Amino acid sequence: MEISQAFKALLDSPKKITIVTHHKPDADALGSSLGLAAFLEKKGHEVTVISPTDYPNFLAWMSGNDKVIVFNEGNESLSADIVNSSDVVFCLDFNSLDRINELGPIIANSDTTKVLVDHHLEPDHFADFEFSDTGAAATAELVYELIVGLGDRELIDANIANALYAGLMTDTGNFRHPSTSAAVHTITADLINLGADVSAVAKLIYDNNSLNRLKFIGFALTERLTVLKDLSTAYFAITREDLNRFNSQTGDTEGLVNYALSIAGIKMAAVIIDRSVMVKMSFRSVGDFSVNEFARKHFEGGGHKNAAGGKSELSLEDTVKKFESAANEYRSELSPELNISTDA
Ligand code: 5GP
Ligand code: MN
Repeated sequence: MEISQAFKALLDSPKKITIVTHHKPDADALGSSLGLAAFLEKKGHEVTVISPTDYPNFLAWMSGNDKVIVFNEGNESLSADIVNSSDVVFCLDFNSLDRINELGPIIANSDTTKVLVDHHLEPDHFADFEFSDTGAAATAELVYELIVGLGDRELIDANIANALYAGLMTDTGNFRHPSTSAAVHTITADLINLGADVSAVAKLIYDNNSLNRLKFIGFALTERLTVLKDLSTAYFAITREDLNRFNSQTGDTEGLVNYALSIAGIKMAAVIIDRSVMVKMSFRSVGDFSVNEFARKHFEGGGHKNAAGGKSELSLEDTVKKFESAANEYRSELSPELNISTDA
């Protein structure tokens, strides 16, 4: 990665740095943030990580997790003070300040130097320094390249390597998505050389289910999955009562969408969840169908070509209707080449 002299100069002397990541951070958002934070601390900077919201407890093992400030847990004014007294704010794994809720205007109105490190499509240009590569598989990949580009590879220790590895593993869908380039494997190999423990990280992230979560997945698969055969589309619609019934915790619905996508012949999958304040949606696709465009056009969202999210202010029922009719607009792209078997 090409690093400008101006950016190098920015980090040459000790600075007060804040790292912010997106709403409901996933392993890439949190791993890239905590990996970068640990690196910057080793460089002599004073670093604080702020998350707009809480995140799944299967990420709590990451080194530095205990110092993360969760903005919406009564830390709003503390966070504003931290941002406003920072020299530099790093924005990791999001492309627009509206992805970080009320933290967005705080950062927009602060006169700190803003640095974007991200891999989402169509980034807003709000930062003074932009490390945006929509071809990168994960923000963790970009953080690795940034550290190496600064000539500091030897500062990557096992904790940093594990955090970055977690981002790469999850954002590539365990090295399965088309984003899994040779560079991803080369970087992964280097992270292993630097101490990443692939087996431990996989176990911590994936084998951390509560019984409630497993039962919820079973229930959703049995009762809440709809297949639109002629649109090669499958979706889950989850009610508020469903979430309550299984005592759903942050992270419990993560990955559900992949079950819908795993049905033979499916090109688009969605999870539509009534989160009370709004209906939140996750979209996935295989092949050329762009859920980034779909989410942007119909559900005020975005993301990547094959993985995106969005929201709706309608009821769950009306959101489902809107989703079905939106999908129908893409009938020519979505209609199956082969018959999809949905037999039990
Ligand atoms: P997930 O479905 O895993 O929550 O998100 C899939 C991808 O879409 C992630 O890269 C995430 O950052 C992005 N994404 C999720 N929700 C939204 C949204 O409401 N707006 C935008 N712009 N991106 C989203
Ligand atoms: Mn990411």
